[in-house]
Amino acid sequence: MNKQAALDLLDFIQESPTSFHAVQSIKRRLIANGFQQLFSGEEWHIEHGKKYFVTKNHSSLYAFIPGNGNIAAEGFKLICAHSDSPTFRIKPAPEMLVEGKYLKLNTEVYGGPIMYTWFDRPLSLAGRVMLRSERPLKPATQFVNFNRPLLEIPHLAIHFNRAVNDQGNPLSKQKDMLPVLGMVNEAFEKDNFLLKLVAEEMHVPEEDVLDFDLMLYEYAKGTLVGLNEEFISSGRLDDLAMAHAGMTALLDSEPCNKTKVLAIFDNEEVGSGTKQGAAAPTLRTILERIVYNQGGNAEDLFRAIHNSFMISADMAHALHPNYPEKHDPTNHPVMNGGPVIKINANQKYVTDGDSAAVFKTICKMAGVPCQTFVNHSDMAGGSTLGNILLTQMEMRGVDIGNPMWAMHSVRETAGVQDQEYVIKAFTTFYSI
Ligand code: ZN
Repeated sequence: MNKQAALDLLDFIQESPTSFHAVQSIKRRLIANGFQQLFSGEEWHIEHGKKYFVTKNHSSLYAFIPGNGNIAAEGFKLICAHSDSPTFRIKPAPEMLVEGKYLKLNTEVYGGPIMYTWFDRPLSLAGRVMLRSERPLKPATQFVNFNRPLLEIPHLAIHFNRAVNDQGNPLSKQKDMLPVLGMVNEAFEKDNFLLKLVAEEMHVPEEDVLDFDLMLYEYAKGTLVGLNEEFISSGRLDDLAMAHAGMTALLDSEPCNKTKVLAIFDNEEVGSGTKQGAAAPTLRTILERIVYNQGGNAEDLFRAIHNSFMISADMAHALHPNYPEKHDPTNHPVMNGGPVIKINANQKYVTDGDSAAVFKTICKMAGVPCQTFVNHSDMAGGSTLGNILLTQMEMRGVDIGNPMWAMHSVRETAGVQDQEYVIKAFTTFYSI
């Protein structure tokens, strides 16, 4: 078993505690491999033989390599994934003093975390900070990552709640989940304490800090686990594992006739309805600009979209060792059994017979196995990027993802071999 891809994924996830940092991590790797950044507010001059990327809100990223063929006839090959994961966001005026002794922070839940998993483990804080600049409408953006164990959400002792292990023991997002930052003394001034801490960490004057988007993350780095180190245990595998695979494949792939695109959207966990999310026209606008910039017209754009293919890559559920009954009776994707094609009769996924056939063919060409997922018919199941993107452009596409356990836990588990498999499949897709 080759563990290189999984180990690289663990480094990538550690560098990427928030969607802002994930985009920064991808950006660094793209630039190191000859990609050039374009800016949406500036004029573009796209040249063949060059590689480009654009970001939106510093939290979504769109990379592309123009194809050698006619863009209308060849279209795009698109892989998309998402940069965000469930977490807790720091509220404004977050400082809360308990009996003049403990300082805790007020937070708001982002997305759907499994809240129990966030208790009793060292947490840290990272995100984006807006600083005063010369231009009132354009504050300067910087990123901060405290990168040290800074907070903890302590669980109540079992002696105060004997029913804690019973099913249905509820948690309040507002009461139970607030992280403690430290001990303070009587003279402590809580107002703007966090803002001062941020300014100090960034070595900027306090009055320059205008606002911030700060999130909690688990401090400990992910690790390989299992008898033969066959599993990856880490936070944010959903969906940084797929972002990492798409990025690696784009960097490893051969030149080809079709224009390759990698889109890493933000805010999938909260419905994608932001300018940096999949429901916005951002990606469509970029594809339009790619066509028009190379001398194409509207007709060329329509043809290009028709001739394109999309892989919507978001993690999938592996058969759970303790709950096989929760899964479909006949489709049991297992860890390290290869990427999973997601299928739903009610079209929550974009997959159909046509696009599943394409993905199976790609896996065969790549020499990797693939599996299928359908919901147990009595379970509702989740949703993902593919369908949301289709509201912007009518493109053939498939929903896939690597099998994993404990989706939305602070520490999820995926397969070491699967990371290598899916990179091979994506690299083949980008190379044919
Ligand atoms: Zn996801």
